[in-house]
Formats: sequence, structure tokens, C-alpha cells
Amino acid sequence: MPELPIPYYPISRFYKERFGTKVHKISVATAETCPNREGIRGMKTCNFCDQWGSAAYSKNLEKPLSQQIDEVKKIVAEKRRAEKFLIYFQAYTTTFSRVSKLREQFELALSYPDIVGIVVGTRPDCISASFLETCNEMAKRTFMSVELGVQSFDNPTLEWMRRGHTGEESIKAIHKISSACPDVNLGVHLIFGNPNETEEMVIETARKINSLPVHNVKLHHMHVLKNTALADEYAAGGFAPMEQQKYFHHCMVFLQHLRADIPVHRLAAFSSRWDELVAPAWTSFKMEMYQGMLSYMRDRQATQGQHA
Ligand code: SF4
Repeated sequence: MPELPIPYYPISRFYKERFGTKVHKISVATAETCPNREGIRGMKTCNFCDQWGSAAYSKNLEKPLSQQIDEVKKIVAEKRRAEKFLIYFQAYTTTFSRVSKLREQFELALSYPDIVGIVVGTRPDCISASFLETCNEMAKRTFMSVELGVQSFDNPTLEWMRRGHTGEESIKAIHKISSACPDVNLGVHLIFGNPNETEEMVIETARKINSLPVHNVKLHHMHVLKNTALADEYAAGGFAPMEQQKYFHHCMVFLQHLRADIPVHRLAAFSSRWDELVAPAWTSFKMEMYQGMLSYMRDRQATQGQHA
């Protein structure tokens, strides 16, 4: 049976177009903290963030970078049959570390012949001039991507998340990165499934992204992990995770209003430590959820960009 077309622009297709082959991201963890955890300007740990700072491979924090790369590369090459890789500096806020250290780590990553680029995750308030200078230099040598944890442009939602930055600050950071590093591929992380979230808010988010110099987006849904402020709120009855069908709907509406040329990393978050997931249970089944999302869009003949 012929494969059905995917109703959105997946990042895997972008990588194939850009590199001419299948490319997989390898997540590594080198940063140990972030401004929120350090309580800078009175900030608190984000309400959804677990003790691992969103690291996919939490044990990696204890290992040298070369060991992390070797181990994860082996697993990913076997599982996904990828031949080329991007190194994703993911956990906590990587750019909160010293830039000289970061530069050394980039050089180490690029010393591998099958590593075709660097991806760095950060926050809108951790964009120093020296970081931008490093990104700019790297972008002239390799594929350099910065993924910015914007999460939402709605300030009450950001306050509830305890992000410690506003939507306006995120927009400023996007422009700052784009003008200082025009060759950097700029991604934005967004979370849907927040309290009081409406379809109009989701559409407005897509419109904002369309108007900004953003090259890709990653979608998460607000899920509850153990040992987080959100877990306490959930236990006290103050937060109810969004139901699956409603999340699918918000995701679909966002994609319909998102420009068709913006690749999308994924459609929802998946906890890499299942024992830590508190709710919602429907997120435990990664493939079922992904297929369910695709069917939801196909059944409605929805495609990315059709209302952009
Ligand atoms: S989500 Fe990022 S910025 Fe927020 S507490 Fe976790 S590591 Fe820090």
C-alpha cells in the first residue's frame, strides 16, 4: 500500500533536503544548571521542569562529552539507520555555561567526520554577545542551529510556567540572534495544552512565528512529571492536562496557520523516563499518539500552511 503523505513539513525532510541523507540529532548534556534553578532575579525552576533539566539522557550529565557522543551515536545509528548526525546540546541552559567551554565542546563535536552540525538549546535571556559571536563563526563552518525555549507568547501563561521572561523578550531575542547571526538556523520551542488556552491563542502564535525570522518549530504539550511544581499543582487539583482530542485540535489549527515552509520537529513531548510521567496517560504511547495526530489531520483534510 502506498504511504500516505505526511500533512506537515517534518524536520526529517528538511534535513534530507539540506544534507542529502538521513540525519539524526544526538542529544548530549553538558550544562548543569540554568538561570531559573540558580534563582537569578528571583526566578524559580519552571513549573514543568524535572530534576534533569529536560535532558533526554539524564545519566549523560556524569559522562565526558566524547563518551556521550560515542554511546548515543551507536544506539541511534543502529535504531534509526542514520549515517550523519547533529549534536544537540540540550539539557538545562547550555549557553549559561562559559562560552569558551562551549566553544571547546563544539570543536570536539565537529572533530567527528559524520557529525554535520551543532544544535544548541537556550533561553531568550541567555544570549550573550560572545555566544552570538561563537554561533556566527560556527555557522560559517558548519550547520549551526539555536533552539530557543519560547514556550508561549502569552505573558500570563509564561508567568504560570515560571519562565522568568516575557513574550516580548522572546521576540527581542529572536531578532537579536537573527541580525547577529544571519546564517544560524533558528528554532523555537512551544508548549500547548496550557490552562485557558484557546484556538485563537494558538492561531495568534502561528501568525507570530510566520512574521518572525524563525526557521523551525518544536511542539510540546504540557505534561506532568514527578517532582515538579506542576505535579504539586496537579495533585492539589489546580491543573488538568488537556485531553488528547483537544490537543490534537490545537496542534492541527497551529499547523494549518503556520507557513508551509517552516519545518516542524515533533508534534508533542515524550518523556524519556516513563516512570516519571504523572499525567496525561495518553502521552505514554508515542507511536499511537503520532499516528492519531496524523489521522486527526487527514480526516479533516488539514495540511500545514493551508490557512497561513
Ligand atoms: S525548563 Fe530550562 S530554563 Fe526552565 S528550569 Fe528547566 S532547564 Fe531551567
